[in-house]
Amino acid sequence: MQHFPIFLAVAGRRIVVAGGGETALAKLRLLLKTEAHVTVFAADPLPEVVRLAQAGRLTLIPRALDHGDALCAVIAYAAHDDAAEDARAAALARADGALVNIVDNLADSAFITPAIVDRDPVIVAIGTEGAAPVLARAIKTDLEERLPATLGVLARIGKGFRALAERLPHGRARRDFWSDFYFLAGPAAIETAGADAVQPALARLLDHHLAQEARQGQVLFVGAGPGDPDLLTLKARKALDLADVVIFDRLVSPQILELARREAVMIDAGKEGFGATVAQADINAMIVAQAQDGHLVVRLKSGDPTVFGRLDEEIGACDAAGLDWRIIPGITAASAAVAQIGQSLTRRDRNAAVRFLTGHDMRGFAEHDWKALARPGEVAAIYMGKRAARFIQGRLLMHGADPATPVTVVENAGRPDSRVLATTLALLEPALTKAAMTGPALTLFGLAPRAARDVLAAQDVTPILERQEALS
Ligand code: SAH
Repeated sequence: MQHFPIFLAVAGRRIVVAGGGETALAKLRLLLKTEAHVTVFAADPLPEVVRLAQAGRLTLIPRALDHGDALCAVIAYAAHDDAAEDARAAALARADGALVNIVDNLADSAFITPAIVDRDPVIVAIGTEGAAPVLARAIKTDLEERLPATLGVLARIGKGFRALAERLPHGRARRDFWSDFYFLAGPAAIETAGADAVQPALARLLDHHLAQEARQGQVLFVGAGPGDPDLLTLKARKALDLADVVIFDRLVSPQILELARREAVMIDAGKEGFGATVAQADINAMIVAQAQDGHLVVRLKSGDPTVFGRLDEEIGACDAAGLDWRIIPGITAASAAVAQIGQSLTRRDRNAAVRFLTGHDMRGFAEHDWKALARPGEVAAIYMGKRAARFIQGRLLMHGADPATPVTVVENAGRPDSRVLATTLALLEPALTKAAMTGPALTLFGLAPRAARDVLAAQDVTPILERQEALS
């Protein structure tokens, strides 16, 4: 780049033009768009130049430029169509301290004048370093067509509106607003009702965008895992960091709630098993209302939100309200429980499938394919199974399950106060009643802890094997 484009401050300052013929007149047409004081030195000016002087648009000195005539001028043009005269005037103006352009003489000019698309205050300057004036003109023509003639009016009105537009968040929201204004709403307002309609149109547009922005809430269905904050995913941590509102379940541990952004509004949507304390419909409505207020809503569910979490109902409510939502998975209780007893949920030659069952559903104790489950080697993770234990036990025995099938109940899996009850199907009840577990418990049917202690536990109805420190 041999020429660096800049916009020169010329308002109220002097610009000198030496010459009064066609070449000078062409430059004057451009220069008179500025707020500079233009002085023309010409012994024999065109009538058009004289008229401009008479109209007070410029000062005409009817002689050739001389020493001192370009003093205090920011720029000067030598525009005589006569190389010798141009060189003389240029030297004088340079001596007076002005930046000098000799029209059509790139080599001897201190600056060049670009092709200009004028939508004041939007000015586009096109330069080709003198190499391809035809190209510059073609680009100019193209831009003249593309930029609405009203752009200047819009930009001037828009400038006065900038402070108000700051009510929109910085970035995309504000860019969208201005783009809408300059290319759609603004030109439309001028076209239908003239420049006076622009200001009110701008105000309406801002209201519209503010309202739209307000509708941009989002819902994240986040898995909180079994309770240990270390078992949260990084995405869950980030979601908690960003949340405006956290709507959480009863089983989400206090240590995890601690991690939510300090300013976040925390809403307890705690539900007890059997009969909700907060009705599902109310939770759905709460999620939707918060997101519609423009908040980033984290719907925090214990374990994995896709496992016995009534997620589909909440997603349905979001969809019905046209809300943006996403799921961030978590570690489900079955994974935490099985890890704790050192087993795996599936094993070659034992079980190629594992069932996640619920002990009860909305109608009461839940029915399942007991016959299939009663076959040797089957494994099931039973959620919400404490109260249904006797029912499940009865159904499985009735369908021919081996009474010696190992059953392990893990209370507060993945938490420091976790307890493990290792027993058999035959002894499940009353062992469970005796253990008097009060925390959430997951029943692993068909699995015993991987250790000698399971033998002990299978006969010993004193159920509590140990008090485990999480992951110790
Ligand atoms: N979405 C959850 C399950 C919700 S249903 C998940 O993926 O884990 C609630 C049931 O999950 C409880 O009744 C209990 O059976 C089980 N549960 C949840 N957290 C548990 C925990 N820390 N330890 C043991 N069981 C748990």
